[in-house]
Amino acid sequence: LIELQDVNKHFGELHVLQDINLTVGKGEVVVVIGPSGSGKSTLCRAINRLETIESGAIRLEGRPLPDEGKALAGLRAEVGMVFQSFNLFAHKTILQNVSLAQIKVRGRKKEEADRRSLELLDRVGLASQAPKYPAQLSGGQQQRVAIARALAMDPKALLFDEPTSALDPEMINEVLEVMQQLARDGMTMVVVTHEMGFARSAANRVVFMADGRVVEDRSPEEFFTNPRSDRAKDFLSKIL
Ligand code: ATP
Ligand code: MG
Repeated sequence: LIELQDVNKHFGELHVLQDINLTVGKGEVVVVIGPSGSGKSTLCRAINRLETIESGAIRLEGRPLPDEGKALAGLRAEVGMVFQSFNLFAHKTILQNVSLAQIKVRGRKKEEADRRSLELLDRVGLASQAPKYPAQLSGGQQQRVAIARALAMDPKALLFDEPTSALDPEMINEVLEVMQQLARDGMTMVVVTHEMGFARSAANRVVFMADGRVVEDRSPEEFFTNPRSDRAKDFLSKIL
């Protein structure tokens, strides 16, 4: 579904993505881990065309990513992204937050969008919160709204960049459970996270990045029990 082939990118002198090759099949959950600054966020942003690349190719269902205009908006709708900060509209209700892009980007009628929003809010356990405003919800609830909002575009894949890093510990699980359920339902997901429990239980593959390179790309069992590279061994010894 998603293919990266020899992708390179610099920020000035910094070679932030170095010859990245990665494929994510339909229904696969790929967890990306690695030290701070290794290029994980840049990789996600490149897949969603929030960053340009200098060489190589990124394809979605075999087609190169569009550069601009309507096609680019379409891509962003097809590949949803959930960030560390939830970025909900503070002055809109939860229901409006989930409905807005459906109306603007997908061209749905308000009633249809609201119906779909309520279904999705129910799926993340928040249907009763629909009339409230973001500030009235906890961080974990707001992040679940952000997931519902991404799902509302009927994406082909979802990218998560440290979706639980900004949350208080007691709220992390409620978000991970929603993500686990999405994984079980067959959603294609690329997840940057430090939650190794999630990686072990939900990932089909773990991609370990260091210094802009994919150093390991293996099953979670193999990666966690027998990391090959010194970089990965060192990283795991610090976080496990
Ligand atoms: P973290 O775990 O801290 O989120 P990361 O693996 O997501 O790290 P990136 O955010 O992809 O890392 O950043 C990789 C490197 O690129 C870092 O050294 C960062 O400082 C640098 N970088 C990121 N964005 C930019 C930018 N817009 N301009 C210049 N340098 C950048
Ligand atoms: Mg990052």
